[in-house]
Amino acid sequence: MVPNRIAAAREYLKRMDLDALLVTSMHNIRYFSGFTGSDGVVVISGDGLWFLTDSRYRTQAEEEVHGFSLIEYRRKLEECAALLGEQGFVRVGFEASSVTVAQHALLKEAFPSGTLVALPGEFDSMRAVKDQEELAALEKIATLASHAFLALIPEIKPGVTERRLALRLEWLLREAGADAASFDFIVASGPRGGLPHAHPTDRAIGFGELVTFDFGGVLGGYCSDETVTVAVGSADLRQQEIYRTVKEAHDLALELVRPGVTCREVDAAARDHITGKGFGEFFGHGTGHGVGLDIHEKPVVSLRSEEILEEGMVITIEPGIYLPQWGGVRIEDTLCVTRDGSRILTKVPKELMILGT
Ligand code: ZN
Ligand code: ZN
Repeated sequence: MVPNRIAAAREYLKRMDLDALLVTSMHNIRYFSGFTGSDGVVVISGDGLWFLTDSRYRTQAEEEVHGFSLIEYRRKLEECAALLGEQGFVRVGFEASSVTVAQHALLKEAFPSGTLVALPGEFDSMRAVKDQEELAALEKIATLASHAFLALIPEIKPGVTERRLALRLEWLLREAGADAASFDFIVASGPRGGLPHAHPTDRAIGFGELVTFDFGGVLGGYCSDETVTVAVGSADLRQQEIYRTVKEAHDLALELVRPGVTCREVDAAARDHITGKGFGEFFGHGTGHGVGLDIHEKPVVSLRSEEILEEGMVITIEPGIYLPQWGGVRIEDTLCVTRDGSRILTKVPKELMILGT
């Protein structure tokens, strides 16, 4: 149990006029209880804490979860509902994004004395500001992943396929100690770089092409996220110009990051620059997102985001330009908002590298 997280959850209960929270997404369960398994439920009330799981995780829960009453269930939702009823709870908040319609119907039927209240997305904002332990974990995995990429550099040359580079990068990352990849890596070469979320194919990289790598690892539950675009063999003037535009947009957004600035303003710093250079219609996604237990979490750094940056938030800055049939450039760093600015956690230098010569 992490006392200040439970205290924040109880504040939230009060604000929302709820008797209890039914926490069902594994990342939130881990956040509040420390449990690292893959099935369970956490119930938080004003003065009670329950952790429910099945027999597979009994021992693990006893080791990892402290300060909670432990309940072993056979029928998960029925027994959760029974607990809520026994405790006399009436208004119970649930995570709408992790409960299916069928599960909701079952819960409702088994908890006739109460009301289930769908929690707004704001509930997940509770994880946006990271504590020291989380920041250390995020920095560690970001460093590991950056070093894995730097170790891959000698293998990036004409003739090697996207798929091989993606596999080798994951191998290097896991060999260095990461528990897993934080998502399926993107390796997009030549014209495939024009697809922001291209998956690696058997396409061999050609001389004079740009290649975009978007990658990250997971360590102790925390994710990293970084994108590097490199040139293989050579870079022509057009490639250099587009790279420079994205890099300038990245730097402008990065320089703006500090507590009190809205995410919308950070997005605008990158977007306005790209638009000013005539590429506005080729930058379709948001400038960034929060990173933590989830690869994409609060806050959202986009055109319409009213969220305000606070010290301890961890976000990405990742502008890009994607030209159909030509290719693309994306540059992404993950940074931590500090008292008077930001600190970059990802470590690969972002000046254009020309590799494989
Ligand atoms: Zn990424
Ligand atoms: Zn990202």
